[in-house]
Amino acid sequence: MSTTNLRPNTIVPTSGTYYCFACQFKRDALTTLTKQSGVSVSELKGALNAHGYGLNKPTTRKRFNTGERFDQCPVCKEATGWSLDMQEAVRPSAPLKLAEKKKELLMECPPVPG
Ligand SMILES: [Zn+2]
Repeated sequence: MSTTNLRPNTIVPTSGTYYCFACQFKRDALTTLTKQSGVSVSELKGALNAHGYGLNKPTTRKRFNTGERFDQCPVCKEATGWSLDMQEAVRPSAPLKLAEKKKELLMECPPVPG
């Protein structure tokens, strides 16, 4: 079952934290645009915010439970598309071996939420 870009009013397939795909898409598009055009991010943000795109808003995240219906992202309204946050959905079912854990910690910092 798909857990990506789900529309408001769709039945929630899996309990978990979802992020708004449309918010994320806008942020990705912004990054791509600035890279391609050479315009600074703040310059472009200013221009787009003046047109009501609200790009200074963070990606909306919300927890939904199986069987509920998705509501709309307050920023994206009808364009909302909820996607399951896989980082939270995939919980380790068995504790890692201590040696592996140590190795992991040495190699990289844990991911920062948001
Ligand atoms: Zn959104």
